[in-house]
Amino acid sequence: MKTIAAISTAAAPGGIGIIRISGEEARSVGDRVFRAVSGEKLHTAAGYTCRFGHVFDADGVRLDECIATVFAAPKSFTGEDVVELSCHGGLFVLKSVLKAVFAAGAAPAAAGEFTRRAFLNGKMDLAQAEAVMELISAEGREAMKAAQAGHDGVLSRRIGAIRDDLTDVGAHLAAWADYPDDDIPQVDEEMLKTRLAAGRKALETLLESFDGGRVLREGVVTVIAGKPNAGKSTLMNLLAGCERSIVTELAGTTRDVVEETVLLGGIPLRLADTAGIRETDDRVERIGVRIALDRLKTAQFVLAVFDASEALNDDDRAMMDAIGSTPCVAVVNKSDLPAQIDLQTIRARFSEVVTISALSGDGLSALSEASSRALHTAKLNPNDGILYTERQRADAEAALNCIKEAQDALSLGMTWDAVTVSLEGAIASLNELTGERVSDAVVDKVFSKFCVGK
Ligand code: GDP
Repeated sequence: MKTIAAISTAAAPGGIGIIRISGEEARSVGDRVFRAVSGEKLHTAAGYTCRFGHVFDADGVRLDECIATVFAAPKSFTGEDVVELSCHGGLFVLKSVLKAVFAAGAAPAAAGEFTRRAFLNGKMDLAQAEAVMELISAEGREAMKAAQAGHDGVLSRRIGAIRDDLTDVGAHLAAWADYPDDDIPQVDEEMLKTRLAAGRKALETLLESFDGGRVLREGVVTVIAGKPNAGKSTLMNLLAGCERSIVTELAGTTRDVVEETVLLGGIPLRLADTAGIRETDDRVERIGVRIALDRLKTAQFVLAVFDASEALNDDDRAMMDAIGSTPCVAVVNKSDLPAQIDLQTIRARFSEVVTISALSGDGLSALSEASSRALHTAKLNPNDGILYTERQRADAEAALNCIKEAQDALSLGMTWDAVTVSLEGAIASLNELTGERVSDAVVDKVFSKFCVGK
């Protein structure tokens, strides 16, 4: 396989930028562009060691100072010899060094090609490779934990256990069907039912984790709703941890929609601060109110803010109606003031109600816990390994459907052959999920989503 190279750090100026070279020729390509101050060659360097020196172009013009790190096959990310050149992170510097590396014999790496080689060299399976992507794009703590667990192979082991059990059952059935005269013990139908039910349950549990996992990964489009002066801006500022939208005592001053992503209990909330939901004669404000109501329609999650120091009014009731069945937490704000609000009505309407003071931050952790419950992430343990790509979900679902078919075949009294065919379908889908047996087309598709340099 040819030796490849790419800039592996972000395509933006930074303190340090790294050019990664991978393949059999990585060290010789490195030696052609890099000269260590000590005079040592990368060719003879041991793995996990680095040298300080300079990089030069083909004409011998010095391009930058550089630290060259050598990873010897198979103990590298890709499983091949790898040289990483850590240069100054200027884009022009990095592009010049990369050009020199190409001139020295490396070919440009395709999108995701480093990780693809890691997969092909057995350093990780397909689900683990996808976790690399998830780790890179993780925005919150929980998403990061889930990606790390995936990268460590927790998901792959869960899938592997289900698959191995089905394989075991399938092998037994096949042997019995193929050699009915031999001394193979009669198929125990109860045992078969129990094991199919166990595989089904395990897959269903895994599939349930997908939606919660997506919330952790992509965040939820969240609207902070409430009448003017309920404390929406103050709550948003509390969540954002700094002043973002203008807080004022004049009702109706949050006119535009300000967008922001904040983390609440590790969940990224894509927040749109909205104008208060209120019938108004003010033309400008009415536009804001319309946007607010539109936002409620498209929201995936609503924080419905009430002012505890005032009785419920028509604006509050209009908001309650507008929310519909969207996951929601009722945030009864201004808990530091004497209470006037009718909590019973709110409790009757919302299953999650928290009392907070957006001003002092009191009740923030209760809000975070209520949100996790409303978004079904509370029971999700990212360390358990969850499904996090649509591809994985589709494979798990296909496997589940095959198990259901096998169960149907069994209860309809069909032949063992029919059960075996369904079992094989389930096993094939699980093998595709982890990449154990997968078509090139699927592998191509997975890695096409990566960027160059990964
Ligand atoms: P919005 O119109 O819903 O965005 O409301 P604001 O966030 O602008 O808040 C309106 C007023 O209520 C401001 O004077 C805030 O300081 C005040 N406020 C917000 N939250 C609290 C709270 O928890 N306690 C008290 N006492 N005042 C609050």
